[in-house]
Amino acid sequence: MMDVNTFRAWIAEAARLVVANTDHLTHLDAAIGDADHGINLSRGFRAAVTMLDDTNPETPGAVLTTVGRALISKTGGASGPLYGTGFRAAAKTLGEDPDVSPVQLGAALAAALAGIRQLGAAEPGDKTMVDALGPAVSASQAVIDTGGHLSEATRAAADAAARGRQATIGLTARKGRASYLGPRTIGHEDPGAASTVLILQALATATAGPATESAPS
Ligand code: ADP
Ligand code: MG
Repeated sequence: MMDVNTFRAWIAEAARLVVANTDHLTHLDAAIGDADHGINLSRGFRAAVTMLDDTNPETPGAVLTTVGRALISKTGGASGPLYGTGFRAAAKTLGEDPDVSPVQLGAALAAALAGIRQLGAAEPGDKTMVDALGPAVSASQAVIDTGGHLSEATRAAADAAARGRQATIGLTARKGRASYLGPRTIGHEDPGAASTVLILQALATATAGPATESAPS
């Protein structure tokens, strides 16, 4: 189960990772876009953390609604509205529940993907954040469907997203600014796929829980 503190820990860790990777994300965007993705997203996640500290939302859903609002209003670029919509769509599926089960988390991640795809109209293979988030949703759902632990589901999501991010290198961009460069985007990793991996790595970290391996006896 994930409570409001776990969601706060997720967002704090996501903000930390995004800010730490500002230059890396911006560097990726310099190759096939306009070199602002790291700057955009750092601004958005810093605003999200500030807004959470100021308002102290009481439920997981309210945390994600606040994050969505911050990202939409402060991030800018194409990615701000897309991520913001994803967080808000996820929040909606959680309602007012104080604790989020793995099944609910799976539904929330699927809703985030659906919201992002509805707004951005990206298909899998268009070289966008969808190419990291889509595989993450499928991989975590497979773990959840077989009764796996939350930590296993979030680890599977992060790992699948990382593989999806790597696969964007071989793709031609068909959405967003990068699409203007067409086939010249081949050979470059998509910045939005890279930031999606960071956000999902943060989720895996926040839900990892204590190590369960027992000492050899
Ligand atoms: P901008 O392209 O406006 O400068 P950012 O640099 O912040 O915005 O974000 C670029 C990232 O947004 C891309 O790498 C891609 O992953 C994602 N993106 C752009 N357009 C779309 C879209 N229509 N659907 C999904 N993701 C998109
Ligand atoms: Mg950009």
